[in-house]
Amino acid sequence: MSRQIIGDFHLHTSFSGDSEAPMEQMIRRGLDIGLTNICITEHMDRDYPTGEDDLDFNLDTTAYAQRFLELKEKYAPQIDLRFGVELGLQPHLASWHQEYVKSFPFDFIIGSSHVVHGRDPYYSSFYNDRTEDEAYLEYFESILENLKCFSDVDVYGHIDYVVRYGPNSNQFYSYGKFSDVIDEILKTVIQKGLGIECNTGGIKYGLGHPNPCEEILARYCQLGGEILTIGSDAHTPQHVAYAFDQIPELLKSCGFRYYTIFKNRKPEFIPL
Ligand SMILES: [Zn+2]
Ligand SMILES: [Zn+2]
Repeated sequence: MSRQIIGDFHLHTSFSGDSEAPMEQMIRRGLDIGLTNICITEHMDRDYPTGEDDLDFNLDTTAYAQRFLELKEKYAPQIDLRFGVELGLQPHLASWHQEYVKSFPFDFIIGSSHVVHGRDPYYSSFYNDRTEDEAYLEYFESILENLKCFSDVDVYGHIDYVVRYGPNSNQFYSYGKFSDVIDEILKTVIQKGLGIECNTGGIKYGLGHPNPCEEILARYCQLGGEILTIGSDAHTPQHVAYAFDQIPELLKSCGFRYYTIFKNRKPEFIPL
């Protein structure tokens, strides 16, 4: 019998440009389903390209911090709230991010690739005039470029998230097709003392797998990776801790015995 996962470490609320969920509703949902830790990780995507949906991912971090502290105090007897952010990494933002992460008392920072060489792979234009594999390879290579420029994050987010959005999604995708670049990503993450996350948004998207997929999680474990957070990437209350009931067995089958939560940017390891 597996233990329940106690914390969701990837959540968005209305301070993120693509969520309308009040923070308090996300917290109350977490309480209702028995979580004891919640880390809010609002989007901060500086220089997100204006275009197809005209979304603004610049986070008002001061307003976010203020609301967070009010709710942290209010719910302190019931749930341990942690203050996080999901940075949309791009190589030219390295020095800006270096300053930003020092400006607020974050518990946890996810670094993610949402924009690849100026384009968001969420949109079909990212796949025009080339094969899907070429587009996926560009995504993975850009993760390495980001890690070389800036690595003051705690985990790299949803490593194969691009396969949610390709024309054939993950139908023809496997770790084996991209093992060279993915191994380099995982080794770089480990060597820099960072971790990765198991993001159940992939299950919500109908991939049948988290992001990254089990093969990558198992490879990370095999290479000696230990820091692994778990997050739903929920943007609405009903998706908080999405599919977390499947995760203990899934991670154990990949070789993990622990998962990770963060406080004050320090990892704590919890048995599965
Ligand atoms: Zn993300
Ligand atoms: Zn996210």
